[in-house]
Amino acid sequence: MKYADLHIHTNLSDSTFSPREVVEAAYKCNLSAIGITDHDSVNGIAPVTKIAKEYNIEVVPGIELSTELNGEEMHILGYYIDYKKEWFLEKLSFLREHRLIRAKTIIEKLNKIGVRITIEEVLNISGKGAVGRMHIAKVLMNKRYISNISDAFARFIGSNAPAYVKKYKITPSEGIDIIRKVNGISVLAHPQTIGKNFHIPTLVEYGLDGIEVYHSDHSAKGTKKYLEIAKQYDLLISGGSDCHGKGKDKILIGTTKIPYDLLENIRNKAKERRSNNSGFVS
Ligand code: AMP
Ligand code: FE
Ligand code: FE
Ligand code: ZN
Repeated sequence: MKYADLHIHTNLSDSTFSPREVVEAAYKCNLSAIGITDHDSVNGIAPVTKIAKEYNIEVVPGIELSTELNGEEMHILGYYIDYKKEWFLEKLSFLREHRLIRAKTIIEKLNKIGVRITIEEVLNISGKGAVGRMHIAKVLMNKRYISNISDAFARFIGSNAPAYVKKYKITPSEGIDIIRKVNGISVLAHPQTIGKNFHIPTLVEYGLDGIEVYHSDHSAKGTKKYLEIAKQYDLLISGGSDCHGKGKDKILIGTTKIPYDLLENIRNKAKERRSNNSGFVS
């Protein structure tokens, strides 16, 4: 049986794993295919693809975009994207610039409540990655303000905590459109973490292609529910671990995976889209 883990981050966003570490970990858990879905960055795709060839692992080029609808944050994954398109790269750079502005604001808020960390310390951790709260959490941990990552979100940077700052966000409709314009397949990420299902029909109207039924933060009951929803709206079924290397309390790669034929369904739809879109151009 062949398996794919279609939700994996690298240190080009907020995982601690380099492209090589991602591939080596995927090889150890016997994955046939991996989806690279960094937040607002496609810089990990080429290096992972190159290294994965040595191991005969297939790489699905992807992205994870943060969007917001009526104050609700929802993440949209894109698969089989044409990740070298100039306008797309510019859009991602713009989103990353906003991440930096937001990180600085979070640090100002932390400083005001007596938490002494600096942007330099955070950028030291994020390196070439798209800077985010995981990097700030890591600095808080290194400086012993907290003892685990969850604590950082609960006490300082989570949505109900004193140093929370919203990220600049596009709407789900924009996210779905962007992915469609780079010939990709859009998938609603970890819907159980949003918790409200009433927006799913709206996203389907916007052109959503699939739903992440299988995810590390989904319960068995939730998974069953999202499987039903996928059938009801004729959505592609996806899944993955959302591994952030050692960034989360546990290394998740391969702990949530999908049978390879589900990936084939996604790939077929992507091929169909590509040939339809190129038909319009010529
Ligand atoms: P950002 O994109 O900067 O808003 O950061 C989002 C990252 O933080 C994602 O990788 C999430 O998985 C992670 N995250 C969000 N909330 C929590 C939480 N309560 N505990 C641990 N990680 C979290
Ligand atoms: Fe992340
Ligand atoms: Fe996410
Ligand atoms: Zn993710």
